[in-house]
Amino acid sequence: MPLMRERDSKRLHIKSRLMGESLVSESFIDSLEVAPQRRLFPDVNVVKIGGQSICDRGKKALPAVIEEIAVNSKEHKMLIMTGGGTRSRHIYAIGLELGMPTGVIAAFGSSVSKQNALLVATMLAPSGGVEIDHESIVKLPNYFAQGCIPVTHAMPPYDFFAIPPAKGRIPIHRTDVGTILLADLIGARSCIFVKDERGLYADDPKKNPDAEFIPHTTAAELSEGKLDDLIIERPCLEILHNSQVLDSVQIVNGLEKGSLTKALAGDHVGTIITNG
Ligand code: ADP
Ligand code: MG
Repeated sequence: MPLMRERDSKRLHIKSRLMGESLVSESFIDSLEVAPQRRLFPDVNVVKIGGQSICDRGKKALPAVIEEIAVNSKEHKMLIMTGGGTRSRHIYAIGLELGMPTGVIAAFGSSVSKQNALLVATMLAPSGGVEIDHESIVKLPNYFAQGCIPVTHAMPPYDFFAIPPAKGRIPIHRTDVGTILLADLIGARSCIFVKDERGLYADDPKKNPDAEFIPHTTAAELSEGKLDDLIIERPCLEILHNSQVLDSVQIVNGLEKGSLTKALAGDHVGTIITNG
């Protein structure tokens, strides 16, 4: 980028396409040509272990998922991410009752999902599990070179900067959002959510056992449709829709042995939401 010297003050500037722009103008952003997003680690699978759906079930669910991850780590590179679950909901409820702002509630959520990252990393330790912080994501190849399975918590670090939602004060960007954001960041091979249901249904299957199963849908269809409840956080749909590097996300049942293995092998198990 060329240096420019102002004629009268002799001050130096670095000339760039963004110089003098507010970066708010929609027509300017439309006209801006940018290089396609680089896929940093396209061979890495991002796998989220649900907080409420898996970790909170303790020995009834977690050891089997840990075992499946350990076996698959011989063949697949995985970044493991963890949700918060019931303990997050408990502190959210107390915080809301006591008038805590969204940012404080989000910070509560981060500390709980970090507890689960330590739990999962400890259980995975004999197979190479290590807890890493978010800043270490760019070092992922080093962890894989050493035979490690990196584990990090999935709450996006908005914390005190969490955006107050239109209604209520529960942060809308929680651990499903953090997972898909990191998958987009690294241009992951896949983004797999391990939960406690077969996948997405037309309604919460725990409340409505007759709800119809949806094996495949698109982010746009789901955003337009007016499903009252979803198996992943709603902002994930817009993030997937806008992603330049993610083709889809997949939701699989961690209570059913082999589902994660099949998803890693590229099989259609559970629900696939494509970027459309
Ligand atoms: P996690 O702990 O992985 O974040 P959550 O408990 O937050 O998982 O979300 C998964 C739960 O979402 C499922 O166990 C299910 O009861 C519920 N759910 C709500 N709406 C739906 C839906 N439309 N399809 C499937 N599951 C749904
Ligand atoms: Mg959740």
